[in-house]
Amino acid sequence: MSLYERFEKSFMPNYGIPPVALARGEGSRVWDVDGNEYLDFIGGIAVSSLGHAHPALVEAVGTQVATLAHTSNLFLHEPEVLLAERLLGLLKAPGRIFLANSGTEANEAAYKLALKYGRREGRSYFVAAENGFHGRTMGALSLTGKKAIRDQFGPFPVEVRFVPYGDAAALREAVGGECIAVFLEPTQGEAGVVPPPDGYFARVREICDDTGSLMVADEIQSAIGRTGHWFAHQAEGVTPDILTLAKGLGGGLPIGACVGFGDAGTLFAKGDHGSTFGGNPVSCAAALAVLDTVDLEHVQKVAVQLRSGLEAVEHPLLKGVRGRGLWLALVLTADVAPGVQAAAARAGFLVNALQPDAVRIAPPLVVTDAEVQSFVEAVPGILAEAAV
Ligand SMILES: *Cc1c(COP(=O)(O)O)cnc(C)c1O
Repeated sequence: MSLYERFEKSFMPNYGIPPVALARGEGSRVWDVDGNEYLDFIGGIAVSSLGHAHPALVEAVGTQVATLAHTSNLFLHEPEVLLAERLLGLLKAPGRIFLANSGTEANEAAYKLALKYGRREGRSYFVAAENGFHGRTMGALSLTGKKAIRDQFGPFPVEVRFVPYGDAAALREAVGGECIAVFLEPTQGEAGVVPPPDGYFARVREICDDTGSLMVADEIQSAIGRTGHWFAHQAEGVTPDILTLAKGLGGGLPIGACVGFGDAGTLFAKGDHGSTFGGNPVSCAAALAVLDTVDLEHVQKVAVQLRSGLEAVEHPLLKGVRGRGLWLALVLTADVAPGVQAAAARAGFLVNALQPDAVRIAPPLVVTDAEVQSFVEAVPGILAEAAV
């Protein structure tokens, strides 16, 4: 029986059957179980920031697991303190950190933190964006603006009002004095790597300030250098009240973080929240290795090369390119994204059919000029194959 058949027999059907079974990786390259080689231009959904088997990650994780793999929150350890200090230093704003294991857990922490504020102030509802994605656990799911994955699991404990993403006037309408918090991504990832109009995030900040609502930036996909900045909100010149991180932070090791800035950092009292595995030493060591290794100048340089290379591709199936940094979508003129993903895999490139008409590209942040070049050169052929 093939690995695919064994997967299908033993796993719940929530993922379907993924089309490629990976065996190992090195840098931006991965090999499947049959020995086929691919350039990984999706990086485990913007997670493998250092690519695969990066020596800095191997060293940090190996040393830490051989020293102390777990403490629980009954005991503290140095890697978590170093990581919290390091994140606050990069954020350049006073705040406090909570460490979790995943994106959705980081958002659950943000949700509960905001709820503490809301209950104290007598506020009653959240605002989030249509098509936004914040995770699969019940709090984060309630904020997720995708009917197909949300509605069948309702009702949810707190009302969430949804507004069109990028529309500041609609947000202004929806956010009143009863609003607890506004949850938004700086660029919508799962919706198709959709950036907002210029100035939107600054307007969100103003609206939150005017109404006393907390601004929560979900940077689970957008942070840790992905857009060419440590955090996407930094490019917008605003600081949210609450920030959530995960994906690229651990470079493949599971870790999430919720940051509360200013007063939001001290809303939780002792006993209000917790996690047995959250902030475990191995994931913290991995995150520190990521933060030590990611080179923003390199990201910016290869991002320009990738974008201009893709924008120069002329093909009737390619409508355009959107996104920021090493986080782009090829926007197609027809609903052929699954065909493009399959053609790319046959050509030796892993990309992600994110929407029927959008293919996500999120290579490791250590991707080289030569690797970007080989992808750009392959795109016309991939599109031609997908078109037939
Ligand atoms: C991936 C993602 C999440 C959920 O993260 P998980 O680790 O899968 O729980 C939440 N928000 C955004 C913006 C994401 O991209």
